[in-house]
Amino acid sequence: MFSRLYLHIPWCLSKCGYCAFNSQPLEPEKLEQTCDLLLREMEIAAKTYPVNQPLRSLYFGGGTPSLLDPEQISRLISRSQELFSHTSSIEITLEANPGTVNRDSLTGYYQSGVTRLSLGAQSFNDQMLQTLGRRHTAADTRSAFQLAQQAGFTSIGLDLICGLPEQTMAAWQQDLGEAVALQPDHLSVYGLTIEEETPFAGRYPIGSSMLPDHDLSANMLEEADSILTAAGYEHYEIANFARPGCRSQHNCGYWQRDGYLGIGPGAHSFLRQGWGIRWGNQSAFDLWSTSIQNNRLAAVEPQTLTRDDALSEHIFLGLRMADGISLDDFAEEFGERLELRFAEAIRQLQQAGLLTCSPDRLSLTKRGMLLSNQVFVRFI
Ligand code: SF4
Repeated sequence: MFSRLYLHIPWCLSKCGYCAFNSQPLEPEKLEQTCDLLLREMEIAAKTYPVNQPLRSLYFGGGTPSLLDPEQISRLISRSQELFSHTSSIEITLEANPGTVNRDSLTGYYQSGVTRLSLGAQSFNDQMLQTLGRRHTAADTRSAFQLAQQAGFTSIGLDLICGLPEQTMAAWQQDLGEAVALQPDHLSVYGLTIEEETPFAGRYPIGSSMLPDHDLSANMLEEADSILTAAGYEHYEIANFARPGCRSQHNCGYWQRDGYLGIGPGAHSFLRQGWGIRWGNQSAFDLWSTSIQNNRLAAVEPQTLTRDDALSEHIFLGLRMADGISLDDFAEEFGERLELRFAEAIRQLQQAGLLTCSPDRLSLTKRGMLLSNQVFVRFI
């Protein structure tokens, strides 16, 4: 039913101006309580959902999971092993923000069993970081990266954002160059989106001259593709690049529709039962914590997928990856040929240069990766 576990830590030092994630400014006294509640939720979940296979990946996301200390992370990892068991090659990722880690904490995380660190660099330009409301500098990122290597981490990823207010192509190229110079084995590259109800939505309304226009933003993503692939990274998913063999196994699981259990406020779960069941937890910390304290899971409105839901998901999640979709796997799962059911859409998208279809796989072209939404709507 599930082979992956996600733990959500909802706290951050402060809220970044563009952020629409389920996170809130830190209340330090709640960190230990959060850790206890996550442990309790794992215990309730392990009794509720049959555990029929060991976990292949565990992911601490947020928020800022590196606000938990190594002892707390260690407790969560150990308990997940007791409750769900781990494969011997389990990938355990911790999202960390530069400026919240030091030599001791990084060493502690590594010794606790964290195998992979994902650093929220976002930019190497201090002015951009300030505009974003980040609490770290470029020097903090470089230092965190080096300290993580010294602590023993061999798998370190960086997140970057482009399309920032007043960002030029030259500034973006500089960011990419600085990131590559650190030689991370994984890079996630996102275009800034202005989300409703964030301070950025008021500061940078749609069409604001402060934001790079649509063409420049698209060119920035293309530039990321050419600089990073030239530097030896494979562009293996719309927003993700990795050295060969260094893909995020946990995130690949999402795109391959592996089952996963989400623990923590606002965390999402997907169980492989029938065509699949999805739900999210209560996102408000207080509602989530009240529910867990009362020994009740905090799931809200579970959705049982129909065959058509599962079929659409299989296509638009699978197409996110450069490997695309195996046409035979699709036929085996859904009992019909994808290339026949969507023959006309595939023909038109191929003609537009957005899709390629080999005898055994369907995948996005580079251009299709930039315009993926135009492709996905044709398969719903
Ligand atoms: S650190 Fe990340 S999760 Fe936290 S407020 Fe900033 S963008 Fe949001």
